[in-house]
Amino acid sequence: METKYLFVTGGVVSSLGKGIISSSLALLLQARGYRVTIQKFDPYINIDPGTLNPYEHGECYVTVDGHECDLDLGHYERFTGIHTTKANNITTGRIYQNVIERERRGDYLGKTVQIIPHVTDEIKRCVKILGDTGDYDFIITEIGGTVGDIESTPYLEAVRQLKWEMGRNVEFIHLTYVPYLKAAKELKTKPTQHSVKMLQQVGIQPDILVLRTEVELRESMLHKVAQFCNVTEQAVIQSLDAPSIYEVPLMMHAQGLDRIVLEKAGLPVEGEPDMQAWMHFLSKVEGATEKVRIGLVGKYVELQDAYKSISESLSHAAAYNDRKLELVYIHSEKLDESNVEEKLKDMDGVIIAPGFGQRGIEGKFVALKWLREHDVPTLGICLGMQCMVIEYARNVLGLAGANSAEMDANAPHKVIDMMEEQKNISNMGGTMRLGAYDCQLRPGSKTAQAYGSTSVRERHRHRYELNAAYEQQLEEAGLKCVGKNPDTQLVEVVEADGLRWFVGTQYHPEYQSTVLRPHPLFEAFIKAAITK
Ligand code: GLN
Repeated sequence: METKYLFVTGGVVSSLGKGIISSSLALLLQARGYRVTIQKFDPYINIDPGTLNPYEHGECYVTVDGHECDLDLGHYERFTGIHTTKANNITTGRIYQNVIERERRGDYLGKTVQIIPHVTDEIKRCVKILGDTGDYDFIITEIGGTVGDIESTPYLEAVRQLKWEMGRNVEFIHLTYVPYLKAAKELKTKPTQHSVKMLQQVGIQPDILVLRTEVELRESMLHKVAQFCNVTEQAVIQSLDAPSIYEVPLMMHAQGLDRIVLEKAGLPVEGEPDMQAWMHFLSKVEGATEKVRIGLVGKYVELQDAYKSISESLSHAAAYNDRKLELVYIHSEKLDESNVEEKLKDMDGVIIAPGFGQRGIEGKFVALKWLREHDVPTLGICLGMQCMVIEYARNVLGLAGANSAEMDANAPHKVIDMMEEQKNISNMGGTMRLGAYDCQLRPGSKTAQAYGSTSVRERHRHRYELNAAYEQQLEEAGLKCVGKNPDTQLVEVVEADGLRWFVGTQYHPEYQSTVLRPHPLFEAFIKAAITK
């Protein structure tokens, strides 16, 4: 079949959950046997979100091919199990960079380079790149930002042109928000009408409207929206707040989202999507009554999006272990000797979060010392693993002043040091050790047991590594270096001997956990936490 392109836009306000709707639709189409991928355009000028502080847009997700990207790609992968790549997340910065590089090469043959057609052509090229692979029946493209923003304009113009070029192979899905005014006890559809008007003004007629609402919408309201927005009545769908994001696909299916998309594309609507495995997961989520309480020690606790993939991985693992996840965010900057016991004593297990820079680091050491001494199941991820090594070096090996070169370039014992290949790099963007690398695990280690395998492949995002000069000392003192890169011998996993479950990974296992394939390391961590 010809590739179909579905564009998802948002109106009224941001944070409506375009990523979740796109992921849900992708899942439903996939469950009907179609090959699907999802792409996101972000209207900011950064080349990628790698240089952004998590306070800006939450976590930076990393693809297998080492692209630092928006956290929505994490949702895409967790819902569908597909592997996204560099082609799945494109920012305005990258679009402009491509256009400007082309201009410098002389590719425009003396023409004046303009937003229309050159920038819009580049946007179209980035959409079609995925379609041209022939690997997909559906490309779902989420356009970041809100309709009406100045920075979204070139994207809307580009996709309007694509509709003109490809007709029925293009569909527009527009998400809006229907506010409920408590005092008047009324739901208001006017903002939706206005945002659809704004789309129509730029020549886009949405095919499907998804209305985000906190209160159930009456039939008559859906009818009114359909009439005023020029959309068929069944194509107005409500998206009520759900107890879990993983319920959204079922809610969308119940209202026929997948069916309408197929009908509008002129495809046959036969049978039902196969959601058996998904339902099994949901039944686990709903059936779990007993809690498992996990502490997450990090410095971005005010902003839960900063640790999105970790919290989702934990929730997958908890569900498959028949537990309800209670995730307690613990501010590393506020942890010290005087309160560590009180903050950590009720945790069944603790995660030491990834991160960059000095802020909050001492709190991680205090936490790790307490966890190690009290034998609490612990998983250190990236910076969390590096802190595990530093704490062990300071307090077990007795290496006073042990540190990471990132925190103290003059530390007497740089047990974590900059990787050789990073030393001559001065650019900050896209220059870390990124993406998937092989890792060989020591047979019999807790980690190898968890995976049920000794060779794994996981995603990385870091500049520093365990300093090989200290490896033997650490080993002898009981911090085993059980995972290594087979090509470079970089240490990727450490495990404390004699403890219940005390594991640190230089890589980020959280990027690979999906609903249908929960990550084995998170599963093993939750199991250890439960048995504690
Ligand atoms: N800041 C550390 C490094 O660059 C860890 C990075 C991380 O936790 N993702 O090596």
